[in-house]
Amino acid sequence: MSNVLVAEEELKALLVGELGLVDEAEFERARLMATRLKMPLERAVAERGRFPFAFLLEQLAQAWGVGFIDLKVSDVHLEALKTIRDEYAKSHVVVPFEQAGRQLKVAMVNPRDRVLIKDMEQMTRLEVVPFLAPEGTIRRAQLLYKGNLRELLERSTVQASTEVKRPLAAGGPGQPGKQWTAGTGGGTGRSQWGAGTDASEMVTQLLEYAVVTRASDIHLEPYEAEMVIRYRIDGVLHEVLSLPPTAQAPVTARIKILSAMRIDEHRIAQDGRFEADLSGFKIDLRVSAVPTQWGEKIVMRVLSREAASADLDDLGLAASDHEILLRNLMRPHGMILVTGPTGAGKSTSLYAMLRRISVERQSGVNISTVEDPIEYTMPRVNQIPLNVAAGFDFASALRALLRQDPDVIMVGEIRDRETVEIGVRAALVGRLFLSTLHTNDATAAVPRLLDMGVEPFLLASTLVLVVAQRLARRICVGCRESESLDEATMKLLRARPDYEHTIELLRQQGVLGAGPDPLAEARTFRGKGCEQCRGGGFRGRVGIFELFEINDQMRQRIMERQDGGSIRAAAAAAGMRTMFGDGLAKVFLGETTLAEVYRVAM
Ligand SMILES: [Zn+2]
Repeated sequence: MSNVLVAEEELKALLVGELGLVDEAEFERARLMATRLKMPLERAVAERGRFPFAFLLEQLAQAWGVGFIDLKVSDVHLEALKTIRDEYAKSHVVVPFEQAGRQLKVAMVNPRDRVLIKDMEQMTRLEVVPFLAPEGTIRRAQLLYKGNLRELLERSTVQASTEVKRPLAAGGPGQPGKQWTAGTGGGTGRSQWGAGTDASEMVTQLLEYAVVTRASDIHLEPYEAEMVIRYRIDGVLHEVLSLPPTAQAPVTARIKILSAMRIDEHRIAQDGRFEADLSGFKIDLRVSAVPTQWGEKIVMRVLSREAASADLDDLGLAASDHEILLRNLMRPHGMILVTGPTGAGKSTSLYAMLRRISVERQSGVNISTVEDPIEYTMPRVNQIPLNVAAGFDFASALRALLRQDPDVIMVGEIRDRETVEIGVRAALVGRLFLSTLHTNDATAAVPRLLDMGVEPFLLASTLVLVVAQRLARRICVGCRESESLDEATMKLLRARPDYEHTIELLRQQGVLGAGPDPLAEARTFRGKGCEQCRGGGFRGRVGIFELFEINDQMRQRIMERQDGGSIRAAAAAAGMRTMFGDGLAKVFLGETTLAEVYRVAM
C-alpha cells in the first residue's frame, strides 16, 4: 500500500487553483514542512492552511465524487464487517461499515483504487460504495475484527455490567493462571469474553476494548466480592465488567509486569508505563497502582498517539478565540498558561500549540519541554522527562534547560514558586514559556501567581495569555434534535449576575437573535439516543474556553496588585468571552447541552 493518497500536483491544482483554500507560497511552505517533519503533504497543507484535516479530506472526497466519513467505531455495523475478511481488510487498509441491500459502504484510504474496489466486489458479490476516511480511523475500526470484542460490543456497556455478575467460581484468590468465568453463556456457542482466557489475553482485550470505545482511563477496582472494571469515556466513568476476585491477582500482576513495577511489592504506590501494540494500532499507557483494603487498585491512562497530533482547529475554539491564541503563539517571548482541572484537555491543547509553533516558525527555533511524565512523543521537540526520585525536578530540569538555548519552553505544570520564577525569567530574556496551572478560571491565574510570590511588575511584563479550558460532551449529530427552552431553565439563566452581559456578547457574535427576548426565541439541542451514540445522546467532546489576554490596561491592574474579582470584572467588561459565555454559545449552536456546561464549567 502506498502512503501517497494524492499526487502533489493534483492536490495543488485542487487547493490552490480550484478551491483557493491556500495560496501558492503557502502550499510550497507546506511541501517543505511535509518533507522536514516526514508527514503526509495533505496533513501539512491542512495545518498551514488553518483548517481541520478532516475538512481537507472532505474537500478531496467531494472533488473525487466519493463520500467522506470520519469513521467512528460506532459507525461500523457488525454485519457489514463480516463481508470482508480480517487479513484482507488490514492489508488493504479498508473497513466495510454498512450494508444496505446490495450496496456495501467501505471506508478506504484511497477510494479511487478501482482495482481494489473491483476485487472487493467480486469477493463480496456486492456493489462497493467507496468512502474516503482518515487512515487512523480505519485502523482503529479494524480492531472490531477481534471476535470477543465484537461480542462485547454487541451488548451495551450497561448490559455487560449486569450480565457478567455471577456467583464466584470455586477456588481461592490469587491463583495465577487459574481460569475464571465471566461469561454469560449467551447461547452463541462461542467463547465468551473473559471465559477461559489467561491474564495476558485478558489485559490485551481490556486494552482493545478501551481503544474501540475511546476510553481515556481504565480503572480496575478491587472489592471484597468482585473486581469492578470501569472505563472513562468522554469524561464519565462507565462500568464495563465485574469479575470474581480470583481474577484480581493475575490481572494485576500482568499489568505490573508490563509496566515494569515490582510485582512482589503490594504495600506501596507504584507508577509505570508501557506501550501496547494492538494488531498494529499502538497506544501508550501510564499506569498507577495504589494499595487499597482489598488489593491494589490499578488505573491505566490511555495515551493515544492521535491526541498528540490534534490540531489547534480541532479543539473547538470560537473564531475570535482562535485568533487571540494564534496571535499570542506567534510572539517571540512571553508566558502563556493553560488552566483547568485534571482531564480538561490541557496537555492536548499545549501539544497542539507546540505543533502550531513548530509549523509556523519552521526550523528556525528550538522547542524543548520538561514533562512529568512525557505523554506524547513529538517530532523535532526535545522532550525531557523528570526524575523526581533522583532529584531532577521541574526547577532543576528547567535551570539546566535554560543553558541549552531553547526558544520555546513548555513545562508540564507549575507546581512551585521556583518553577514559576525561572519561567518568568526565561520569558523576560526572550523565550516563549508555556505551562499549566490549576485555577478555576483564566483571570484567577493572576492572583494565584502573585500569591506564589511572583513580583507584580515581573508578571505584568511577561504574562501574555491565560487559557482556561474544560471538556463537555458533544451532542451526537446522528440523533440531535432541537427544543425550546423551558421556564425553569430560562429562570436559572436570568438569575445569573452575568446574564445581561453574556447575552449581549452572544448577540454581538450572532449566536443569539436581536429580538426583545433572545431566550424565548433561542433553541437548545439534545441527542435523543441512536445507534451511533449507543443511546447516550453524546459522542466525543468539545472544549469550552476562556481566553484572558493581557493588554496594557490589565498590565496596569496587575502592577497595582488588584484583587481577582476586579481583574475578572474588568476583563469581562472589556469583552472577554467567559467560559460560561463560550459554553452557552456552544449550547445555542447545538454542540452541547446546558447541563453539560453546568457540569464542567461552573
Ligand atoms: Zn446519537
